[in-house]
Amino acid sequence: MTRARLIVKGIVQGVGFRPFVYRIATANKLVGFVRNLGDAGVEVVVEGTPDSVSRFISELETDRPPTSLIHQVDTTYPTETGEFQEFQIIKSNESRVHAGSVIPPDIAICDNCLRELRDRRDRRYDYFFITCTDCGPRYTIIDALPYDRPRTTMKDFEMCERCLGEYKDPNNRRFHAQTVACAECGPSVTLATRDGKRVDSMEPIREAGRLLERGYIVAIKGNGGFHLASSTLLTEPVVRLRKTKFRLQKPLAVMARDLKAARSFAEVTPVEEKLMTSYVRPIVLLRKRSDFDLSDQIAPGLHNIGVMLPYTGLHSMLFDEASERALVMTSANPPDEPIIKDNEEAFARLKDVVDYFLVHNRKISQRCDDSVIRSLDGTTTILRRSRGYAPAPIPVAAPGNACTLGVGGQLNVTSCVVYQGRAYMTQHIGDVETLQTYQFQKEATRHLLKLTGCVPDAVGRDLHPLFSTTKFADELAQESGMRILPVQHHYAHVAGLMAEHNVDEIVGICCDGYGYGDDGSAWGGEIIFADQSGHKRVGHLEEQPMIGADLATKYPLRMVAGILRDHKGITDWLLQREDRFPHGREEVNMILKQLRSSRLPWTTSCGRVLDAISAILGLCYERTYEGEPAMKLESAASGGKDVLNLEPVLKAGVIDTNVIVREVFADVGRMTTSDLAYSAQSYIARSLGESAITTARELGVKSVGFTGGVACNESITRTLKTAADKAGLRFLAHETVPPGDGGLSFGQAVVAARTSQS
Ligand SMILES: [Zn+2]
Ligand SMILES: [Zn+2]
Repeated sequence: MTRARLIVKGIVQGVGFRPFVYRIATANKLVGFVRNLGDAGVEVVVEGTPDSVSRFISELETDRPPTSLIHQVDTTYPTETGEFQEFQIIKSNESRVHAGSVIPPDIAICDNCLRELRDRRDRRYDYFFITCTDCGPRYTIIDALPYDRPRTTMKDFEMCERCLGEYKDPNNRRFHAQTVACAECGPSVTLATRDGKRVDSMEPIREAGRLLERGYIVAIKGNGGFHLASSTLLTEPVVRLRKTKFRLQKPLAVMARDLKAARSFAEVTPVEEKLMTSYVRPIVLLRKRSDFDLSDQIAPGLHNIGVMLPYTGLHSMLFDEASERALVMTSANPPDEPIIKDNEEAFARLKDVVDYFLVHNRKISQRCDDSVIRSLDGTTTILRRSRGYAPAPIPVAAPGNACTLGVGGQLNVTSCVVYQGRAYMTQHIGDVETLQTYQFQKEATRHLLKLTGCVPDAVGRDLHPLFSTTKFADELAQESGMRILPVQHHYAHVAGLMAEHNVDEIVGICCDGYGYGDDGSAWGGEIIFADQSGHKRVGHLEEQPMIGADLATKYPLRMVAGILRDHKGITDWLLQREDRFPHGREEVNMILKQLRSSRLPWTTSCGRVLDAISAILGLCYERTYEGEPAMKLESAASGGKDVLNLEPVLKAGVIDTNVIVREVFADVGRMTTSDLAYSAQSYIARSLGESAITTARELGVKSVGFTGGVACNESITRTLKTAADKAGLRFLAHETVPPGDGGLSFGQAVVAARTSQS
């Protein structure tokens, strides 16, 4: 006889791991126990014949549940005692010894549960929160570890006898499923008017679907927060929703009834289909069909639309009595605030926005927005990493055993913990510009540290002295003696890209809207050489004036004025567009006066150049959401060709951007908008590519990469990849971490880990 004790680390709680261990242990005729530990790991002790013990150990890794992840198994062979009569799942042990395990993300409804939801003979027929060990919310309902019902928001619902029976039955799919519930004992759903009055209905969910179809706006509580929902066919509710959300143009995500419905208005490639139906169930950016027939107010001026599939029973049931193929399903968050998660808060804050509320009575522990992903030529890029991903770890090439933290920048913030070759990121926090989001980041970060059991010894933060995240890092340092490491914005992006692909050196192209430069000026179109010891800025886009600083970000015509300040005819051109400025002619005159000043703020931002071209082409005069002018330029360029084919103009590492802006300006009206938009993107991409490739050759570096918010641009990414391929260099793009500022914390934590090492 042999006794083995295994400590399993990874994602092994909340994924049906104990029931799985129970099954393979009993199948191998072993006795002993399995239990959850307070550090998110699992402990197994087995006794049996040497053969069956070793078979058990190998099956543990090969047959593990699909949503589990094993990082490490520490096996010891103590002397056997013969104390066990059988194999049991025993009470969890709250001790926390081994950092680095973590709970799973939320998992979309599985096929078995979906089948039961629709089966009239099943006792969970029509039960909107049907789940099993393979599916259901995890991250959003777990308050503390180890993962057991009393430490989740399911604690408010005592299991009925039948649910308890299933929970205790080793042969049942719900054996030890902590979220098990039914209509008798689980959360219930209520439809209410905007004043909070309950609407009498036998079928509140289907009734909500009918209301949506008729043009009402409904706030719907899901697993991780509230959505605002509306019809996708009627324009009136969409416009009304936009007004109340202060999102005049921002694309709204939709939830399609099923794949077939999604295909009726968008193109779905096989890779996209796989993403949409995965247990993550993210919002996937799909190309609109040429006969796109949903309201044009859903994603105005864009060639793509964000589509997800239902991920709870509740979502599926919304479509039962409505003929809508898709519903608008956008996070309910007041401007610059996190997604709303509590019922009281929703009723208080959304009553003037919506017509009805569809709420349930289970509390949300962690708020969590939907994730956003896109696929380009088969390569996927996560644009927002949140529900379905957080807090699952990302393998990362970071040295040593140090634990480090990154806290992000100012926009699209996340926090990230790096420990023992794995990065754990929080859900999407948002723009940390209000007290509410600041608070949310603090909570989510502390929660993540608690879940992973990591105690960081250093925190990476931005160079910007005034960011809230800088303040947060200071606070953490004061509290616990963490070392603070300021990391330059674009270097953090590049370092993240290196760590994601495990390369030692790279010439990185980092393009975005704004980042605080090493010299304190505004950067955003950078060529950066980085290796294990640090970074060097080796090139950048030409500096351009930003008249009115932040105002130039909001009103791209100001960028046009700055870039073309020496161009004959710019004065008249601006005056012809005076009604595009909030203060009309007076403002134009002020801008022209400022142009002659010698104290203008300057920027190398790639985003601002794209914005200017977008304004010249009449695509966007006011930025109402982050990236709007550049996104509309990209959409306009789709289907265009490079008619200008300008040679890149580079001088001592500086990429001339005037030449392309001037050329586009001169050709408006003579060539199509689509071709000019394409040509402009092409020039910028080819120039960046040439600069990076030349540098890589000079330095003997084998990889070039593209990162930053502009790396979301498909056409620029494709051009850069083609150029790198042609030059025989490896081209790296983000696949597991967002290229935009959502990935910044990852790069910061990686750089901090490297300095902890040395
Ligand atoms: Zn299930
Ligand atoms: Zn029940």
